[in-house]
Amino acid sequence: MSLINTIVVAGGTHGNERTGARLVQKWMEHPECYNSLCSAKVDLVLANPEAVRLNRRYRDHDLNRAFSQTCLDVTVEPQQYEFRRAKELNALYGPKGADTKTDLLLDVHNTGSNMGYCLILSARDPFTMRASAVLTQEFKDAWIYYQPEERSASPYFGTVAKADVCIEIGPQQHGTLDAAIFEESERLVKRYLELAEEWNRGELQKRAPIKVDVYTQFKDLGYPKPQGGGPIQAMIHPDLMGRDYRELKDGDKLFRTFDGKDILYHGESPVYPIFISEPAYYEKDIAMSLTVKSVEEW
Ligand SMILES: [Zn+2]
Repeated sequence: MSLINTIVVAGGTHGNERTGARLVQKWMEHPECYNSLCSAKVDLVLANPEAVRLNRRYRDHDLNRAFSQTCLDVTVEPQQYEFRRAKELNALYGPKGADTKTDLLLDVHNTGSNMGYCLILSARDPFTMRASAVLTQEFKDAWIYYQPEERSASPYFGTVAKADVCIEIGPQQHGTLDAAIFEESERLVKRYLELAEEWNRGELQKRAPIKVDVYTQFKDLGYPKPQGGGPIQAMIHPDLMGRDYRELKDGDKLFRTFDGKDILYHGESPVYPIFISEPAYYEKDIAMSLTVKSVEEW
């Protein structure tokens, strides 16, 4: 197994997800918070400083949808700020692909959904699997969401590195901070750095396998809309609100229309919804992501 020599800790990829942004700013001012935790070179980055300044998700375009190889390969200077910033970040920490400078990228996000400490893995990388499994034991509200992506096509910032974890923490209102969440998030990011050190010493690999619940992306589900488009016709059903990672079966209540009628779920069953009513996904027409659950040993 290869060593982890270079790590990037990113925050503010979405400017109004303040936990990661503030964590990175704190660590920039106080390197003693992290620099004794591992021997790898750790870089800190405020990924979208313009959006952080505005306290908005993005200025012109979602930065975390701008890292596909196609976007990065555009040769003319992009008009939109985030596409330019993506190319800059790729030059600093990539280039995306086999020759990247970064072995591990930890990107800290917040969600308004009730998702606890959601560790999103985009690939079956041995270190991120092992370390994340350990963290599900150490943190009472940590979960594993596996979102397999073809790395070159994937638009996420983390994919400029060899391996990455996108850490989604919630529920936290966008644009705000929450002290308890901030402190627990800092502890979690520190643990990844310590586990990288444990990995480099060859010790993490020797731990006994850990049984984990793995929630694997199945599909995104949009809100009901009229044929041909228009405003959404229903809301998340009150029985489903806040019930991320809970079983949803064929025939269960899914949405409630504005005149009080229930819309039931029909489809693959059981599934496990996450990102339920995530505020930033209304514009993307995603009401929730459906996952399937498996038990694995990592
Ligand atoms: Zn985010």
